Amino acid sequence: MNELKRLTVFCGSSEAVDRLYFDAVEELGKVLAEMKIEVIYGGGNVGLMGKLARTVLDHGGRVTGIIPRKIYDNVTHIELTELIIVETMHERKAKMYESGDGFIALPGGIGTLEELTEIFTWYQLEYHNKPIGLLNTKNYYAPFNNMLEHMVSEGFLHKRYMEPLLSEENPRSLIERIKDHSVPLMNKWKQDIGDRI
Ligand code: AMP
Repeated sequence: MNELKRLTVFCGSSEAVDRLYFDAVEELGKVLAEMKIEVIYGGGNVGLMGKLARTVLDHGGRVTGIIPRKIYDNVTHIELTELIIVETMHERKAKMYESGDGFIALPGGIGTLEELTEIFTWYQLEYHNKPIGLLNTKNYYAPFNNMLEHMVSEGFLHKRYMEPLLSEENPRSLIERIKDHSVPLMNKWKQDIGDRI
């Protein structure tokens, strides 16, 4: 069982998405508040980012936002438990990555995909061994999961690197699986040469 006090969440900022995505995030926010799991996220006020932060706060939970000054200066704000203003996107991501005991990606756009693939890459390179969950509302992550399977079958990704990844449509099941999932630390540099990708 993992200690899951703080969860870093990557999520879309678009408002122009199906109601179902907002409903799933609302459910997730309630579960996180109930389980007393603090949310670390990008500090946004819009889309699924805003929905998650507001729901967790409304249900008595804790939310920390980490936002670059350039974005901070251009958006309106939710009163969060804590807001950390940093200078660069790289600083923001580093802080988000080190702060969470695990990660989840909610449905999102390019920004979310970038954060998800970066943290997944860092696992392969032995920078962490934290679980990575996908909230698979409306089977949103099916094309991403297919792409990963394609990488494995074509030999570009070893299936051992899939260890941290969990995909669930139901928010509560996703969090419960993350809590139960212990991820081995990879050591890419010590694999047999013939087995190395
Ligand atoms: P996307 O998945 O393309 O919607 O991008 C989500 C990412 O966009 C977030 O993690 C942030 O880096 C950034 N972002 C976009 N809009 C905002 C906002 N209003 N406040 C904070 N971050 C934002």
